[in-house]
Amino acid sequence: MQETDSQAEVIVVGGGLVGAALAALLGEAGVAVSVLDARPGPLDEEAVGRGQPAQRVSAVTPVSQRLMEGLGIWSRLRRISPYTGMQVWEAEGSGEIAFDAEQAGTPVLGHIVENEVMLAALETRLAALPCVDQLFDARVEALQTTAIGRRLILADGRRLAAPLVVAADGARSRLRELAGIEVSARDTGQTAVVTTVRTERVHGGVARQIFLPTGPLAFLPLSVDGDTRYCSIVWSTTPDEARRLVDLSRDVLGNALASAFEHRLGAVEVIDAAVAIPLTQRHASHYVEPGLALVGDAAHSIHPLAGQGVNLGFMDAAVLAEELVEARRRGAELGDPRILSRYARRRRGDNTAMLALMDGFRLLFGAENPALRLARNIGLSGVDRLLPLKRLLMRQAIGERGRLPASCR
Ligand SMILES: Cc1cc2nc3c(=O)[nH]c(=O)nc-3n(C[C@H](O)[C@H](O)[C@H](O)COP(=O)(O)OP(=O)(O)OC[C@H]3O[C@@H](n4cnc5c(N)ncnc54)[C@H](O)[C@@H]3O)c2cc1C
Repeated sequence: MQETDSQAEVIVVGGGLVGAALAALLGEAGVAVSVLDARPGPLDEEAVGRGQPAQRVSAVTPVSQRLMEGLGIWSRLRRISPYTGMQVWEAEGSGEIAFDAEQAGTPVLGHIVENEVMLAALETRLAALPCVDQLFDARVEALQTTAIGRRLILADGRRLAAPLVVAADGARSRLRELAGIEVSARDTGQTAVVTTVRTERVHGGVARQIFLPTGPLAFLPLSVDGDTRYCSIVWSTTPDEARRLVDLSRDVLGNALASAFEHRLGAVEVIDAAVAIPLTQRHASHYVEPGLALVGDAAHSIHPLAGQGVNLGFMDAAVLAEELVEARRRGAELGDPRILSRYARRRRGDNTAMLALMDGFRLLFGAENPALRLARNIGLSGVDRLLPLKRLLMRQAIGERGRLPASCR
Protein backbone atom coordinates (compact mmCIF):
# COMPACT_ATOMS: atom_id res chain seq x y z
CA MET A 1 0.00 0.00 0.00
CA GLN A 2 1.32 3.36 -0.99
CA GLU A 3 2.12 6.09 1.51
CA THR A 4 -0.16 9.08 1.27
CA ASP A 5 2.45 11.71 1.91
CA SER A 6 -0.08 13.85 3.68
CA GLN A 7 0.55 17.56 3.58
CA ALA A 8 -0.23 17.66 7.27
CA GLU A 9 2.24 19.20 9.67
CA VAL A 10 0.35 17.55 12.53
CA ILE A 11 -1.81 14.41 12.58
CA VAL A 12 -4.23 14.21 15.49
CA VAL A 13 -5.36 10.65 16.17
CA GLY A 14 -8.79 10.71 17.84
CA GLY A 15 -11.38 13.33 17.00
CA GLY A 16 -13.15 13.25 20.37
CA LEU A 17 -13.68 16.49 22.28
CA VAL A 18 -9.99 17.04 23.03
CA GLY A 19 -8.58 16.02 19.63
CA ALA A 20 -11.21 18.09 17.80
CA ALA A 21 -10.49 21.15 19.97
CA LEU A 22 -6.75 20.80 19.34
CA ALA A 23 -7.27 20.44 15.58
CA ALA A 24 -9.51 23.53 15.56
CA LEU A 25 -6.98 25.63 17.50
CA LEU A 26 -4.17 24.59 15.16
CA GLY A 27 -6.31 24.95 12.04
CA GLU A 28 -7.32 28.48 13.04
CA ALA A 29 -3.65 29.39 13.30
CA GLY A 30 -3.04 28.11 9.76
CA VAL A 31 -1.31 24.83 10.69
CA ALA A 32 -2.08 21.99 8.25
CA VAL A 33 -3.75 19.28 10.36
CA SER A 34 -5.28 15.89 9.67
CA VAL A 35 -7.61 14.59 12.35
CA LEU A 36 -8.46 10.89 12.21
CA ASP A 37 -11.20 9.01 13.98
CA ALA A 38 -12.34 5.41 13.92
CA ARG A 39 -16.00 6.50 13.96
CA PRO A 40 -17.85 6.07 10.63
CA GLY A 41 -18.63 9.77 10.14
CA PRO A 42 -19.24 13.16 11.76
CA LEU A 43 -22.19 13.96 14.00
CA ASP A 44 -25.11 15.85 12.52
CA GLU A 45 -25.18 19.21 14.31
CA GLU A 46 -28.85 19.66 13.42
CA ALA A 47 -29.83 16.36 15.05
CA VAL A 48 -28.04 16.70 18.42
CA GLY A 49 -29.35 18.59 21.43
CA ARG A 50 -32.97 17.80 20.62
CA GLY A 51 -35.54 15.54 22.27
CA GLN A 52 -34.32 13.69 25.32
CA PRO A 53 -30.92 14.84 26.67
CA ALA A 54 -27.99 12.60 25.71
CA GLN A 55 -26.64 10.27 28.36
CA ARG A 56 -23.10 11.66 28.37
CA VAL A 57 -22.73 15.23 29.56
CA SER A 58 -19.86 17.28 30.98
CA ALA A 59 -19.58 20.02 33.53
CA VAL A 60 -17.71 22.66 31.52
CA THR A 61 -15.72 25.31 33.43
CA PRO A 62 -15.79 29.03 32.53
CA VAL A 63 -12.16 28.64 31.40
CA SER A 64 -13.12 25.91 28.90
CA GLN A 65 -16.08 28.08 27.88
CA ARG A 66 -13.60 30.85 26.92
CA LEU A 67 -11.72 28.35 24.76
CA MET A 68 -14.94 27.51 22.91
CA GLU A 69 -15.91 31.16 22.63
CA GLY A 70 -12.54 31.81 20.98
CA LEU A 71 -13.29 29.02 18.51
CA GLY A 72 -16.64 30.65 17.74
CA ILE A 73 -18.69 27.63 18.75
CA TRP A 74 -19.99 28.48 22.23
CA SER A 75 -22.92 30.59 21.01
CA ARG A 76 -23.97 27.74 18.71
CA LEU A 77 -24.24 25.11 21.47
CA ARG A 78 -27.82 24.07 21.97
CA ARG A 79 -29.32 23.41 25.38
CA ILE A 80 -26.45 24.38 27.65
CA SER A 81 -27.44 24.51 31.32
CA PRO A 82 -25.67 27.08 33.50
CA TYR A 83 -25.21 26.37 37.17
CA THR A 84 -24.60 29.08 39.71
CA GLY A 85 -24.51 26.91 42.81
CA MET A 86 -22.91 23.71 44.03
CA GLN A 87 -23.87 21.68 47.08
CA VAL A 88 -21.81 18.83 48.47
CA TRP A 89 -22.75 16.93 51.57
CA GLU A 90 -22.17 13.66 53.32
CA ALA A 91 -24.83 11.02 53.90
CA GLU A 92 -25.40 10.11 57.52
CA GLY A 93 -23.29 13.03 58.63
CA SER A 94 -23.63 16.68 59.32
CA GLY A 95 -20.96 17.96 56.94
CA GLU A 96 -22.16 20.16 54.11
CA ILE A 97 -20.61 22.79 51.89
CA ALA A 98 -22.29 25.13 49.42
CA PHE A 99 -20.65 27.26 46.74
CA ASP A 100 -22.19 30.02 44.73
CA ALA A 101 -21.06 31.99 41.74
CA GLU A 102 -21.53 35.36 43.39
CA GLN A 103 -19.07 34.44 46.17
CA ALA A 104 -16.61 33.33 43.51
CA GLY A 105 -17.05 36.66 41.70
CA THR A 106 -18.15 34.96 38.47
CA PRO A 107 -21.54 34.92 36.70
CA VAL A 108 -21.68 31.09 36.65
CA LEU A 109 -19.69 28.22 38.13
CA GLY A 110 -20.03 26.32 34.88
CA HIS A 111 -22.42 24.77 32.38
CA ILE A 112 -23.63 21.24 31.90
CA VAL A 113 -23.36 20.47 28.19
CA GLU A 114 -24.17 17.29 26.29
CA ASN A 115 -20.90 15.90 24.91
CA GLU A 116 -22.34 15.27 21.45
CA VAL A 117 -23.57 18.89 21.25
CA MET A 118 -20.02 20.16 21.83
CA LEU A 119 -18.47 17.60 19.50
CA ALA A 120 -20.90 18.29 16.65
CA ALA A 121 -20.17 22.03 16.88
CA LEU A 122 -16.41 21.37 16.88
CA GLU A 123 -16.75 19.09 13.84
CA THR A 124 -18.71 21.76 11.94
CA ARG A 125 -15.97 24.27 12.79
CA LEU A 126 -13.29 21.85 11.57
CA ALA A 127 -15.13 21.29 8.29
CA ALA A 128 -15.00 25.05 7.65
CA LEU A 129 -11.23 25.35 8.20
CA PRO A 130 -9.37 25.03 4.87
CA CYS A 131 -6.17 23.60 6.37
CA VAL A 132 -7.92 20.88 8.39
CA ASP A 133 -8.61 17.49 6.90
CA GLN A 134 -11.06 15.25 8.82
CA LEU A 135 -10.78 11.51 8.14
CA PHE A 136 -13.40 9.13 9.50
CA ASP A 137 -13.45 5.35 9.48
CA ALA A 138 -9.72 5.67 10.07
CA ARG A 139 -8.47 3.29 12.78
CA VAL A 140 -4.78 3.46 13.58
CA GLU A 141 -3.12 0.06 13.86
CA ALA A 142 0.61 0.79 13.74
CA LEU A 143 3.08 3.58 14.47
CA GLN A 144 6.57 3.90 13.00
CA THR A 145 9.42 6.38 13.35
CA THR A 146 10.69 8.00 10.15
CA ALA A 147 13.42 10.46 9.28
CA ILE A 148 10.95 13.36 9.40
CA GLY A 149 8.72 12.27 12.26
CA ARG A 150 6.12 9.51 12.54
CA ARG A 151 4.18 7.27 10.18
CA LEU A 152 0.77 5.76 10.94
CA ILE A 153 -0.63 2.64 9.37
CA LEU A 154 -4.40 2.40 9.37
CA ALA A 155 -6.53 -0.75 9.61
CA ASP A 156 -7.37 -0.49 5.87
CA GLY A 157 -3.67 -0.30 4.97
CA ARG A 158 -3.48 3.48 4.38
CA ARG A 159 -0.21 5.08 5.52
CA LEU A 160 0.09 8.67 6.68
CA ALA A 161 3.17 10.54 7.81
CA ALA A 162 3.84 13.89 9.49
CA PRO A 163 6.52 15.57 11.64
CA LEU A 164 4.19 15.34 14.66
CA VAL A 165 1.51 12.84 15.65
CA VAL A 166 -0.75 13.67 18.61
CA ALA A 167 -2.51 10.86 20.48
CA ALA A 168 -5.98 12.06 21.46
CA ASP A 169 -7.47 8.59 21.25
CA GLY A 170 -8.90 8.33 24.74
CA ALA A 171 -8.25 6.50 27.99
CA ARG A 172 -7.35 3.19 26.32
CA SER A 173 -5.11 4.94 23.80
CA ARG A 174 -3.81 2.56 21.12
CA LEU A 175 -1.20 5.14 20.13
CA ARG A 176 0.17 5.25 23.69
CA GLU A 177 0.40 1.47 23.67
CA LEU A 178 2.04 1.39 20.23
CA ALA A 179 4.61 3.94 21.42
CA GLY A 180 5.33 1.74 24.44
CA ILE A 181 4.54 4.56 26.88
CA GLU A 182 3.80 3.11 30.27
CA VAL A 183 0.77 4.11 32.23
CA SER A 184 0.10 3.93 35.94
CA ALA A 185 -3.48 2.70 36.31
CA ARG A 186 -5.39 2.74 39.57
CA ASP A 187 -8.69 0.92 39.71
CA THR A 188 -10.81 3.26 41.83
CA GLY A 189 -12.91 0.28 42.94
CA GLN A 190 -15.90 2.18 41.60
CA THR A 191 -18.15 2.03 38.56
CA ALA A 192 -20.27 4.99 37.45
CA VAL A 193 -23.94 4.45 36.70
CA VAL A 194 -25.05 7.11 34.24
CA THR A 195 -28.60 8.02 33.25
CA THR A 196 -31.02 10.96 32.91
CA VAL A 197 -33.90 11.76 35.25
CA ARG A 198 -36.76 14.16 35.74
CA THR A 199 -37.29 15.25 39.33
CA GLU A 200 -40.33 16.44 41.23
CA ARG A 201 -38.68 19.74 42.19
CA VAL A 202 -36.74 22.20 40.03
CA HIS A 203 -32.97 22.09 40.46
CA GLY A 204 -32.58 25.88 40.55
CA GLY A 205 -29.29 25.81 38.62
CA VAL A 206 -27.48 23.96 41.42
CA ALA A 207 -25.15 20.99 40.86
CA ARG A 208 -25.54 18.64 43.81
CA GLN A 209 -23.44 15.74 45.04
CA ILE A 210 -23.87 13.49 48.05
CA PHE A 211 -21.04 11.32 49.34
CA LEU A 212 -22.49 7.90 50.18
CA PRO A 213 -20.37 5.24 51.94
CA THR A 214 -20.00 3.48 48.55
CA GLY A 215 -19.13 6.64 46.55
CA PRO A 216 -20.50 9.99 45.33
CA LEU A 217 -23.88 10.45 43.63
CA ALA A 218 -24.22 13.60 41.49
CA PHE A 219 -27.38 15.25 40.12
CA LEU A 220 -26.17 17.61 37.37
CA PRO A 221 -28.76 20.24 36.37
CA LEU A 222 -30.16 20.16 32.82
CA SER A 223 -32.69 22.40 31.21
CA VAL A 224 -34.94 21.09 28.45
CA ASP A 225 -37.11 23.70 26.70
CA GLY A 226 -36.94 25.83 29.84
CA ASP A 227 -37.98 22.94 32.11
CA THR A 228 -35.44 22.79 34.93
CA ARG A 229 -36.50 19.49 36.42
CA TYR A 230 -34.07 17.41 34.41
CA CYS A 231 -30.77 16.10 35.78
CA SER A 232 -27.96 13.95 34.49
CA ILE A 233 -26.96 11.30 37.02
CA VAL A 234 -23.46 10.06 37.76
CA TRP A 235 -23.65 7.52 40.57
CA SER A 236 -20.21 6.13 41.47
CA THR A 237 -20.47 2.95 43.46
CA THR A 238 -19.06 -0.54 43.85
CA PRO A 239 -19.03 -2.65 40.66
CA ASP A 240 -21.52 -5.14 42.19
CA GLU A 241 -23.92 -2.40 43.20
CA ALA A 242 -23.59 -0.78 39.75
CA ARG A 243 -24.48 -4.09 38.07
CA ARG A 244 -27.50 -4.38 40.34
CA LEU A 245 -28.62 -0.78 39.68
CA VAL A 246 -28.48 -0.99 35.87
CA ASP A 247 -30.62 -4.12 35.95
CA LEU A 248 -33.41 -2.47 37.99
CA SER A 249 -36.63 -1.36 36.33
CA ARG A 250 -36.80 2.41 35.79
CA ASP A 251 -39.39 2.80 38.59
CA VAL A 252 -37.28 0.95 41.13
CA LEU A 253 -34.10 2.78 40.08
CA GLY A 254 -35.96 6.11 40.42
CA ASN A 255 -36.96 5.21 43.99
CA ALA A 256 -33.39 4.11 44.80
CA LEU A 257 -32.05 7.43 43.46
CA ALA A 258 -34.57 9.53 45.38
CA SER A 259 -33.83 7.73 48.62
CA ALA A 260 -30.01 7.76 48.20
CA PHE A 261 -30.29 11.48 47.42
CA GLU A 262 -32.25 12.05 50.64
CA HIS A 263 -35.22 13.27 48.57
CA ARG A 264 -33.58 16.69 48.08
CA LEU A 265 -35.32 17.06 44.70
CA GLY A 266 -38.35 14.95 45.63
CA ALA A 267 -39.48 11.98 43.56
CA VAL A 268 -37.23 10.86 40.69
CA GLU A 269 -38.40 9.54 37.31
CA VAL A 270 -35.72 7.77 35.26
CA ILE A 271 -36.19 8.67 31.58
CA ASP A 272 -33.27 6.87 29.92
CA ALA A 273 -31.47 3.53 30.11
CA ALA A 274 -28.80 3.32 32.81
CA VAL A 275 -25.29 2.38 31.73
CA ALA A 276 -22.33 1.33 33.86
CA ILE A 277 -18.85 2.73 33.20
CA PRO A 278 -15.90 1.33 35.20
CA LEU A 279 -13.74 4.13 36.66
CA THR A 280 -9.99 3.77 36.38
CA GLN A 281 -7.55 6.62 36.99
CA ARG A 282 -4.63 6.48 34.58
CA HIS A 283 -1.59 8.65 34.11
CA ALA A 284 0.97 8.18 31.33
CA SER A 285 4.58 8.01 32.54
CA HIS A 286 5.44 10.76 30.06
CA TYR A 287 3.44 12.88 27.61
CA VAL A 288 5.94 13.41 24.80
CA GLU A 289 8.58 11.68 22.70
CA PRO A 290 10.21 12.95 19.52
CA GLY A 291 7.40 13.46 16.99
CA LEU A 292 4.68 12.31 19.42
CA ALA A 293 2.53 13.97 22.11
CA LEU A 294 -0.33 12.68 24.28
CA VAL A 295 -3.34 14.85 25.20
CA GLY A 296 -6.63 14.42 27.05
CA ASP A 297 -7.67 11.01 28.34
CA ALA A 298 -4.80 9.41 26.39
CA ALA A 299 -2.47 11.18 28.84
CA HIS A 300 -4.63 11.04 31.99
CA SER A 301 -8.08 9.82 32.97
CA ILE A 302 -9.62 10.94 36.20
CA HIS A 303 -12.53 10.07 38.50
CA PRO A 304 -15.56 12.17 37.42
CA LEU A 305 -16.46 13.33 40.95
CA ALA A 306 -15.22 16.86 40.35
CA GLY A 307 -16.15 16.99 36.65
CA GLN A 308 -12.60 17.86 35.56
CA GLY A 309 -11.67 15.27 32.88
CA VAL A 310 -12.49 17.03 29.65
CA ASN A 311 -11.58 20.41 31.13
CA LEU A 312 -8.05 19.16 31.81
CA GLY A 313 -7.98 17.79 28.25
CA PHE A 314 -9.06 21.14 26.80
CA MET A 315 -6.19 22.79 28.72
CA ASP A 316 -3.75 20.24 27.27
CA ALA A 317 -5.05 21.09 23.78
CA ALA A 318 -4.80 24.85 24.38
CA VAL A 319 -1.26 24.70 25.80
CA LEU A 320 0.04 22.31 23.12
CA ALA A 321 -1.49 24.47 20.37
CA GLU A 322 0.06 27.60 21.89
CA GLU A 323 3.54 26.02 22.05
CA LEU A 324 3.30 24.63 18.50
CA VAL A 325 2.05 27.86 16.93
CA GLU A 326 4.80 29.82 18.66
CA ALA A 327 7.44 27.28 17.55
CA ARG A 328 6.19 27.39 13.97
CA ARG A 329 6.38 31.20 13.99
CA ARG A 330 10.07 30.83 14.87
CA GLY A 331 10.50 28.29 12.06
CA ALA A 332 11.17 25.38 14.46
CA GLU A 333 10.33 21.71 13.74
CA LEU A 334 6.98 20.81 15.32
CA GLY A 335 8.12 17.34 16.36
CA ASP A 336 11.21 18.71 18.14
CA PRO A 337 11.31 17.18 21.64
CA ARG A 338 12.41 20.49 23.16
CA ILE A 339 9.18 22.13 21.99
CA LEU A 340 7.03 19.22 23.04
CA SER A 341 8.70 19.17 26.47
CA ARG A 342 7.56 22.72 27.07
CA TYR A 343 3.96 21.49 26.66
CA ALA A 344 4.58 18.54 29.00
CA ARG A 345 6.16 20.75 31.65
CA ARG A 346 3.26 23.20 31.55
CA ARG A 347 0.57 20.52 31.86
CA ARG A 348 1.91 17.66 33.93
CA GLY A 349 1.86 19.45 37.30
CA ASP A 350 -1.77 20.57 37.01
CA ASN A 351 -2.93 17.13 35.85
CA THR A 352 -0.94 15.34 38.59
CA ALA A 353 -2.34 17.63 41.30
CA MET A 354 -5.91 17.05 40.12
CA LEU A 355 -5.47 13.26 39.95
CA ALA A 356 -4.00 13.26 43.48
CA LEU A 357 -6.86 15.43 44.75
CA MET A 358 -9.44 12.99 43.38
CA ASP A 359 -7.59 10.10 45.06
CA GLY A 360 -7.60 12.04 48.32
CA PHE A 361 -11.35 12.76 48.11
CA ARG A 362 -12.15 9.16 47.32
CA LEU A 363 -10.05 7.78 50.15
CA LEU A 364 -11.27 10.35 52.68
CA PHE A 365 -14.93 9.90 51.82
CA GLY A 366 -14.63 6.14 51.41
CA ALA A 367 -13.15 5.68 54.89
CA GLU A 368 -15.30 3.98 57.51
CA ASN A 369 -13.00 5.07 60.35
CA PRO A 370 -15.12 7.18 62.79
CA ALA A 371 -12.28 9.68 63.39
CA LEU A 372 -12.03 10.33 59.63
CA ARG A 373 -15.80 10.66 59.41
CA LEU A 374 -15.77 13.27 62.14
CA ALA A 375 -12.84 15.05 60.48
CA ARG A 376 -14.57 15.28 57.13
CA ASN A 377 -17.83 16.50 58.68
CA ILE A 378 -15.96 19.19 60.58
CA GLY A 379 -13.85 19.84 57.50
CA LEU A 380 -16.79 20.36 55.12
CA SER A 381 -18.75 22.57 57.51
CA GLY A 382 -15.58 24.36 58.65
CA VAL A 383 -14.56 25.20 55.08
CA ASP A 384 -18.13 26.31 54.45
CA ARG A 385 -17.65 29.05 57.06
CA LEU A 386 -14.28 30.22 55.70
CA LEU A 387 -15.08 32.45 52.75
CA PRO A 388 -11.48 33.14 51.60
CA LEU A 389 -10.73 29.40 51.50
CA LYS A 390 -14.01 28.72 49.71
CA ARG A 391 -13.15 31.40 47.15
CA LEU A 392 -9.78 29.74 46.56
CA LEU A 393 -11.42 26.32 46.09
CA MET A 394 -13.97 27.79 43.69
CA ARG A 395 -11.29 29.49 41.58
CA GLN A 396 -9.56 26.09 41.33
CA ALA A 397 -12.79 24.29 40.44
CA ILE A 398 -13.69 26.74 37.68
CA GLY A 399 -10.28 26.24 36.09
CA GLU A 400 -8.48 29.46 37.14
CA ARG A 401 -5.20 27.69 37.98
CA GLY A 402 -1.65 28.64 37.08
CA ARG A 403 -0.63 30.29 33.84
CA LEU A 404 -3.51 29.89 31.40
CA PRO A 405 -2.89 29.74 27.65
CA ALA A 406 -3.88 32.93 25.81
CA SER A 407 -6.87 31.15 24.19
CA CYS A 408 -8.42 30.65 27.65
CA ARG A 409 -7.70 33.96 29.34
C1 LIG B 1 -19.24 9.01 33.90
C2 LIG B 1 -18.32 10.10 33.44
C3 LIG B 1 -18.66 11.43 33.67
C4 LIG B 1 -17.80 12.47 33.28
N1 LIG B 1 -18.14 13.75 33.55
C5 LIG B 1 -17.29 14.75 33.23
C6 LIG B 1 -17.58 16.11 33.54
O1 LIG B 1 -18.63 16.43 34.11
N2 LIG B 1 -16.67 17.07 33.21
C7 LIG B 1 -15.50 16.76 32.60
O2 LIG B 1 -14.69 17.67 32.37
N3 LIG B 1 -15.20 15.48 32.28
C8 LIG B 1 -16.05 14.48 32.59
N4 LIG B 1 -15.74 13.19 32.26
C9 LIG B 1 -14.48 12.91 31.55
C10 LIG B 1 -14.63 13.16 30.04
O3 LIG B 1 -15.73 12.46 29.53
C11 LIG B 1 -13.34 12.72 29.33
O4 LIG B 1 -12.23 13.29 29.98
C12 LIG B 1 -13.34 13.17 27.87
O5 LIG B 1 -14.45 12.67 27.17
C13 LIG B 1 -12.06 12.71 27.18
O6 LIG B 1 -12.03 13.21 25.86
P1 LIG B 1 -10.91 12.72 24.83
O7 LIG B 1 -11.21 13.47 23.57
O8 LIG B 1 -9.57 12.81 25.45
O9 LIG B 1 -11.17 11.17 24.63
P2 LIG B 1 -12.43 10.41 24.01
O10 LIG B 1 -13.69 11.15 24.23
O11 LIG B 1 -12.36 9.01 24.53
O12 LIG B 1 -12.17 10.41 22.43
C14 LIG B 1 -11.25 9.54 21.82
C15 LIG B 1 -11.56 9.45 20.33
O13 LIG B 1 -10.53 8.66 19.72
C16 LIG B 1 -11.11 7.76 18.79
N5 LIG B 1 -10.21 6.59 18.70
C17 LIG B 1 -9.92 5.69 19.67
N6 LIG B 1 -9.01 4.78 19.23
C18 LIG B 1 -8.71 5.12 17.94
C19 LIG B 1 -7.83 4.57 16.96
N7 LIG B 1 -7.06 3.48 17.19
N8 LIG B 1 -7.78 5.18 15.75
C20 LIG B 1 -8.53 6.29 15.49
N9 LIG B 1 -9.38 6.84 16.40
C21 LIG B 1 -9.47 6.26 17.61
C22 LIG B 1 -12.46 7.44 19.37
O14 LIG B 1 -13.38 7.05 18.34
C23 LIG B 1 -12.88 8.76 20.03
O15 LIG B 1 -13.64 9.58 19.17
C24 LIG B 1 -16.57 12.15 32.64
C25 LIG B 1 -16.23 10.82 32.39
C26 LIG B 1 -17.08 9.80 32.80
C27 LIG B 1 -16.68 8.36 32.55
